[in-house]
Amino acid sequence: MYILCSDLEGVFVPEIWINVALATGIEELKLTTRDINNYDVLMKGRLDILRQNKLTIHDIQKVIKGIDPLPGAVDFISWIKKRTGLIIVSDTFIEFADPLMEKLGRPTLLCNSLTIDQDGNITNYNLRQSDGKRKVTEALHNLNYKVVAVGDSYNDISMLRNSDAGILFRPPENVIKDNSDLPVTRTYEELKEIISSKEHLLQ
Ligand SMILES: [Mg+2]
Repeated sequence: MYILCSDLEGVFVPEIWINVALATGIEELKLTTRDINNYDVLMKGRLDILRQNKLTIHDIQKVIKGIDPLPGAVDFISWIKKRTGLIIVSDTFIEFADPLMEKLGRPTLLCNSLTIDQDGNITNYNLRQSDGKRKVTEALHNLNYKVVAVGDSYNDISMLRNSDAGILFRPPENVIKDNSDLPVTRTYEELKEIISSKEHLLQ
């Protein structure tokens, strides 16, 4: 028996912060972990920018409500749900995710959270735990499940490497270069094929 653990942004939905940057016209919000590899520095920077521009959780949620899943994502999720369990393991925040989870058919989501004051200002962020993506695969292994893991970026690599089958989905070139042993998929059809081909190893 196996469970599919998948990243959210870049796999099932577009990057949330890039959409916030586009909607608000604030260029610095386009920076991601690809530009600033220290997540704490990146997030504190984002929260500073929100504060300087007087953007609240309500403004961000308004942008997120307008984001649609990537074409084919919903069909892929119903395909995998007929075969096995799906857990989305994401670095996003529970306060951001709800409209997207609704559109994806409410899969199980493990993610982080925000601290928000009475006026809706985001004052801090809280990681659920450190290296949470890898720890999900460890926990499932302890429950005697095999794990297939899918992700697109550096923050997914520890989850992919600790799973029984780690698969990259639409990764940028530098992630492919640094992880040339991991299979790369670019469409949901390719992803389905690779998962189907490994199922006999995951009994
Ligand atoms: Mg991602």
